[in-house]
Amino acid sequence: MNRRGRFDAVVVGGGVIGAACALGMADAGLDVALVEVAEPSAWSPTNPDLRVYAFAPDNAVLLDALNVWSDVARQRVQPYRRMRVWDAAGGDALEFSADELARPRLGWIVEHGLLVDCLWRQLERRGVVVRCPARVTGIEQDDSGVRLVLDDGGMLDARVAIAADGGQSALRELAGIDTDDRDYNQLGLVAYVRSELPHAETAFQRFLPGGPLALLPCTGGRSSIVWSLPVDEARRRMDIDAPAFNRELTRASDACLGALELDSPRAAFPLRRKLAQAQRAGRVLLMGDAAHVVHPLAGQGVNLGLRDVSAWLRSVRDARAKGRDFDAASRLQRWARERRSDNTISTLAFEAINRAYSNDQPIATLLRGHALGVAGRVPVLRHALWRHAAGL
Ligand SMILES: Cc1cc2nc3c(=O)[nH]c(=O)nc-3n(C[C@H](O)[C@H](O)[C@H](O)COP(=O)(O)OP(=O)(O)OC[C@H]3O[C@@H](n4cnc5c(N)ncnc54)[C@H](O)[C@@H]3O)c2cc1C
Repeated sequence: MNRRGRFDAVVVGGGVIGAACALGMADAGLDVALVEVAEPSAWSPTNPDLRVYAFAPDNAVLLDALNVWSDVARQRVQPYRRMRVWDAAGGDALEFSADELARPRLGWIVEHGLLVDCLWRQLERRGVVVRCPARVTGIEQDDSGVRLVLDDGGMLDARVAIAADGGQSALRELAGIDTDDRDYNQLGLVAYVRSELPHAETAFQRFLPGGPLALLPCTGGRSSIVWSLPVDEARRRMDIDAPAFNRELTRASDACLGALELDSPRAAFPLRRKLAQAQRAGRVLLMGDAAHVVHPLAGQGVNLGLRDVSAWLRSVRDARAKGRDFDAASRLQRWARERRSDNTISTLAFEAINRAYSNDQPIATLLRGHALGVAGRVPVLRHALWRHAAGL
């Protein structure tokens, strides 16, 4: 807190996005506080998190700059070097390989709980003031600052407030920002599986009429599945016994890794799109799921959120290098406009792909035809698709 008794920035929400943003701002020399409802549980190698991310290279660079990536990588990450995407209705596959793109790897598969744990271990060490457990119940703001009222009776004054409190963001609502919502009527079923064939560091995604099935390579020869399914189908597959589930999963995967066998409990989460109508209201900025909840088919949820953080940190560092105010209205507005544009394009693109592929209507099947194969055969297009996913 500075001499006038206020912070430069208060971050609400200590998930991957909020914790990374708080650390980055503290490293840039700002006085930062972070408000979180519940302290995350410590990650343990014997209790793996079912939520895993296909982590893009640009975001590993961000965590490296925050001095967190080496801690994550030392504990448990699985690089992936190949990716194969194909349509159950036929046509050629779209394939990427690190060798062909002259890169050591395409990205990493990382557990959510491990990322949060490594980020949290740095917060207080690097000067972030953590208020936990606490939640925001009110805000007031004017041209010079924002005041957050907390449910523990406290108040925090800051020059900016970052809403990183997830899809149901309370701060977004308090700031008066509406969202465009769409329920996909699908659940994402997640679990770890063992496979008859080695995964060979390959991520697979097969489009099926009910929704895409992704198989992400993990350490110890396991893979993590994210299977998007219509709600009734997902519920049925949560309840059937393991041998029946294994048979259906192997069939759905086209046996790309031979027979698959459950190696963990199953969990399911609802899939919906939520896009904030703006990423800024005065001195409140929205980042991560507070601004955009996307379909998990492209594995880009956390990647998009960390790109909000990177763009913001670039703006803060640029302002400080030039001796200007990091919170000038024009800077906040430029950041919000650029990020909302990128996030809107990505969110709607994932939705369009899900809609085009998650059905077996003859016309849609015919129209999408051999699109993946065509994209795969045109090197410039394939390279552009990859660069976009990798954040390069
Ligand atoms: C099963 C599953 C699989 C996924 N797979 C992928 C993938 O492969 N790749 C990918 O990129 N993305 C994936 N996603 C999406 C990804 O999890 C989210 O995009 C990401 O977690 C968003 O991070 P966040 O920090 O914005 O929000 P969250 O992770 O939701 O964190 C929000 C934080 O705010 C706190 N909070 C909430 N309300 C308040 C409040 N009022 N006051 C204070 N604190 C509050 C919460 O306790 C939490 O700590 C997946 C999601 C799920 C559920």
